[in-house]
Amino acid sequence: MLGLIQDRPLLIHSLIDFAAEFHGDVEIVSRTVEGPIHRCTYRDLASRSKRVARMLDRLGVALGDRIGTLAWNGYRHMELYFGVSGMGAVLHTLNPRLFPEQITYIANHAEDKYIFFDLTFAPLIEALADHLPNVKGFVAMTDAAHMPDIKVDRLHCYETLLEAETDDYEWPSFDERTASSLCYTSGTTGNPKGVLYSHRSTVLHSWAVCTMDGLALSSHDVVLPVVPMFHANAWGLPYAAAMCGAKMVMPGARLDGESVYELLETENVTLSAGVPTVWLMLLGHVKAKGLKFSTMNRTVIGGSAAPRSMIETFQRDYGVDVIHAWGMTEMSPLGTTGNLRAKHAALPFDKQIDVRVKQGRAIFGVDLKIVDDDGKELPHDGKAFGHLLVRGPWITNGYFKGEGGKILDDEDFFDTGDVATLDPDGYMQITDRSKDVIKSGGEWISSIDVENEAVGCPGIAEAAVIAVPHPKWAERPLMIAVRKPDADVTKEAVLDHLTRHIAKWQLPDDIVFVDELPHTATGKLLKTKLREQFKDYKLPTA
Ligand code: ADP
Repeated sequence: MLGLIQDRPLLIHSLIDFAAEFHGDVEIVSRTVEGPIHRCTYRDLASRSKRVARMLDRLGVALGDRIGTLAWNGYRHMELYFGVSGMGAVLHTLNPRLFPEQITYIANHAEDKYIFFDLTFAPLIEALADHLPNVKGFVAMTDAAHMPDIKVDRLHCYETLLEAETDDYEWPSFDERTASSLCYTSGTTGNPKGVLYSHRSTVLHSWAVCTMDGLALSSHDVVLPVVPMFHANAWGLPYAAAMCGAKMVMPGARLDGESVYELLETENVTLSAGVPTVWLMLLGHVKAKGLKFSTMNRTVIGGSAAPRSMIETFQRDYGVDVIHAWGMTEMSPLGTTGNLRAKHAALPFDKQIDVRVKQGRAIFGVDLKIVDDDGKELPHDGKAFGHLLVRGPWITNGYFKGEGGKILDDEDFFDTGDVATLDPDGYMQITDRSKDVIKSGGEWISSIDVENEAVGCPGIAEAAVIAVPHPKWAERPLMIAVRKPDADVTKEAVLDHLTRHIAKWQLPDDIVFVDELPHTATGKLLKTKLREQFKDYKLPTA
């Protein structure tokens, strides 16, 4: 017997409709690429999203067509989030930090029909246009006065196109499982693969973000996503903010510490979100200038492990709660959040940090399990570590166009490629990426553990640990480190520091100092490149 409840589809347009009706005067503040700060309200944004939808109709965009964007966090990008998906097309956020050949590959693979771009990327569009023969038009996200002087036929002006439209538009209704947006993983190995979200998965994910044990987003918040809208939908924040009517502050292209700090203060931001690298820059600025945060009371850190020292600094020196979050593009992206449980409130500071450095507990909707190489489930004792598998209504069941084949196990679990522990309270801790762990004499060494300890050593700015072949132990760790400016820390000093924090057999067999480490487009260490670079490295112990 079925329940007698209305089966209303969960559609993305309902988020912006709700924001316009119940939080219509709440602002979206953007630092524009053109220069000035721009202010509009949810009411304006909803109206302009409808004009976007009409404009796409007029351009001949149909249900399921892909619309690419090359854009920073800003109000026009947000209009496209709602306008494109709302009219039934698929918003495809391209990552401008990728190599031009990768962007071309991805836009062609996705068969983008139009590409909308911020002025920053006008030269890139000029360079790529000839390699994108199937794109019907390139739309510069600016007004007529600021149109770029580039040699691209098929060029349009966003504001001119919008001026021709009214907001007299009825959002279409369709199956909630309809594709809504597309985001490619950065593909540190092989070609990038597309994750195709649906209206249903996006709305459910937004609800999860708003829950107290998710990111506790509400209409009382002012949210500044430093995480880009081209990186896993800015962790779903634009949708979730509309769902709860939170004010949005969009930093545009300027993500340095000073610019972000200025917005945090002038706009009374309460919640920010970004990867550790961004917070390093921000904390560096705040510390150097002797500043504090007047209104920010929590910050979401994810994308890579938040270092213990960073969490301590935010909590102790600035009174900002760190929400350590883990997830991935394939998961919309939120999987776990590191909020404390009620019973942790009475713990001493250090013990609370022990909890906060873990990547956190599953939010409702996400099932987690850890398994060994044979797929056998491992105990949740906080010690055993194995492959981390996930399942849930906002987790991919296959890449776009079937790339990568079947990706779920018999119970529909997806292998994240991460290695983790789960403790009896359900806190998950990432110990490594499967391909990065160092298999030394039958034991696994977590490269992340050693790296995190190394950056706690005075004089060390950044460190990467990779496996190097070893005749006796199969693999042994090699550390490649970058010194802080003007520091002259030695290999011996680093080893001495590490000896106090990790077991002797986990110590790197050698340390090489370099000027800089390679990173992916999303700011993660590019270990494939390091492994390639050091594949013939002779360890002193070999
Ligand atoms: P990509 O960089 O491939 O686009 P994602 O943003 O989807 O990727 O990256 C997902 C991966 O990032 C996770 O599988 C995990 O390895 C890593 N990651 C994300 N958040 C954390 C975290 N809080 N701690 C450690 N690793 C993390």
